[in-house]
Amino acid sequence: ITPPALSVFETLESEVRSYCRSWPAVFDRAQGSRMYDEDGHTYLDFFAGAGALNYGHNNPVLKRALIDYIERDGVTHGLDMGTTAKRAFLEAFQDVVLRPRDLPYKVMFPGPTGTNAVEAALKLARKVKGREAIVSFTNAFHGMSLGSLAVTGNAFKRAGAGIPLVHGTPMPFDHYLDDRVPDFLWFERLLADQGSGLNTPAAVIVETVQGEGGINVARPEWLRGLAALCERHDMLLIVDDIQMGCGRTGSFFSFEEAGITPDIVTLSKSIGGYGLPMSLTLFRPELDLWEPGEHNGTFRGNNPSFVTAAAALDAYWRDGQMEKQTLARGEQAEEALRAICTEHPELGGHYRGRGLVWGLEFADKARASAVAGRAFELGLLVETSGPEGEVVKLLPALTISPEELDEGLRILARAVRET
Ligand code: PLP
Repeated sequence: ITPPALSVFETLESEVRSYCRSWPAVFDRAQGSRMYDEDGHTYLDFFAGAGALNYGHNNPVLKRALIDYIERDGVTHGLDMGTTAKRAFLEAFQDVVLRPRDLPYKVMFPGPTGTNAVEAALKLARKVKGREAIVSFTNAFHGMSLGSLAVTGNAFKRAGAGIPLVHGTPMPFDHYLDDRVPDFLWFERLLADQGSGLNTPAAVIVETVQGEGGINVARPEWLRGLAALCERHDMLLIVDDIQMGCGRTGSFFSFEEAGITPDIVTLSKSIGGYGLPMSLTLFRPELDLWEPGEHNGTFRGNNPSFVTAAAALDAYWRDGQMEKQTLARGEQAEEALRAICTEHPELGGHYRGRGLVWGLEFADKARASAVAGRAFELGLLVETSGPEGEVVKLLPALTISPEELDEGLRILARAVRET
């Protein structure tokens, strides 16, 4: 592969850029599960915009809806004004997502990105409860703005703030006693000990599967135990479904499997469907206590995103097929990872996931990066995650064909063999 001309990235763009370094190519076009660089190389995309492209790149159904909307001069920017695009989205969200699941939520548009949805959730929880502390979990990731970062269990990312971030108390994620009984003993002790500084937190924020944290899957019994603990201690339960929602784990919301109903839910990434910025904070109606304007922002009403989001719900979630398809592709991925681990006993069989999000853990970051690097050379985009970057993460579009998935998994197997 000829090194592409990266000069302007190197001379002008900040050193903080990262994907530019992992994948030294200049991407130009993308369709479905494939990306194309300007030098004519093709890549299978098992990254899917970090989970923002569950329906693939330039999905034809969503593209048509967007082109039609733009061609008829639909409103592009409307803050949170009433628009036909927003109404169509809200109606689709109500009919396709909330009503069939008997979920009671009110919907707010907190800003363009995931971290805006988390900030709104944390602010609202504190305002409603009149308390400060928030409990989060080891290896959690909730975003890069100060509030979200304070509840993110990654010291490297938190250090980027340049100041100590307080108010997030981390607890062990998916912790079990003897690997059998969900364990909240430490948590209960801290709650009981008024001198611990924790007092009663306003809320607990959790991902059901930690995406950035290394594909750590919380078991349903642990999530149910956590929900019960929140209820006993009058803490709000916030599920951050920004990466695992919109069907990534099979069901539309990742918490459905555990049968819990969080008080607050955050969604972003794939909710817009086409990779356009959009985020939602959902909450129980009794938490709807903000006065008009108490939380606002210029980019809360991305109407082109509403259009593609509504089109995605209509096309993929009305008939219930999406879940079956995702689970079938997930089994295909799991089988391939099992085969890789059988071929490479040194990996210790450390693969894990749910639905169509999977992680393969290596002994260290060096090997995981080498595998991702070799995969790139062979035409597959996979990123690393986990506290030390030791997990290769598979996050293909949910619309990927079985053949494309197989092709990517074969490249991954080859990359493991060759590194
Ligand atoms: N929460 C979770 C679980 C995420 O995975 C992410 C992004 O990866 C965020 C929050 C932050 O979203 P954004 O990067 O859009 O601010």
